[in-house]
Amino acid sequence: MATRDRTIEALIERLNRLPGIGPKTAERLAFHLLRVDAEEALLLARAIEQVRAAVKTCSRCFNLDASDPCSICSDATRDRSMLLVIEDPREVARFEDTGYRGLYHVLQGRLSQLEGIRPEDLTTNSLLTRVAQERPAEVCLATNPDLEGEGTARLLAERLAASTAAQGIRVTRLARGLPAGSSIAQVSTSILADAIEGRRPLAP
Ligand SMILES: [Zn+2]
Repeated sequence: MATRDRTIEALIERLNRLPGIGPKTAERLAFHLLRVDAEEALLLARAIEQVRAAVKTCSRCFNLDASDPCSICSDATRDRSMLLVIEDPREVARFEDTGYRGLYHVLQGRLSQLEGIRPEDLTTNSLLTRVAQERPAEVCLATNPDLEGEGTARLLAERLAASTAAQGIRVTRLARGLPAGSSIAQVSTSILADAIEGRRPLAP
């Protein structure tokens, strides 16, 4: 049986470790990189090198940024009374788009029994220390509204309970409900149930 060059196998194996890249795709990508101009392939290698050198993890909120503390943590105009706890640094941009001006805390994941992710694998302890030191008026647990996100929010609420109650800090969860533009006839029962539970007063 003919064997392939060791370096090609090594590249395929590397690519195969990337999320969502199976062995077939890894093989296809490896051969694509061998087919294109050498310069083109090296640009990818250099882009990875540059982004790894330029982007740091913020030591306060665990957001990714060119500086540590990140531009959000070091922005004096941000509302420090509000701390939004999110799973992934990619979500920062989503909340920024909404006009949110408070601070963030990135968990770097969520609890998952299936994937063996435990509280100590997340930035849970840093969150507890931060809340005790910075004493925001509100900590909003903005993990995803799915099974694992809910489980993560519940655990954080439990761990935060004692210190936040003592300091009068509100712990909240993102409201859920009907997506704008949706129709009541079409949304799922669980969304409708959440919408009823999360109803709010209507100002006249
Ligand atoms: Zn930060």
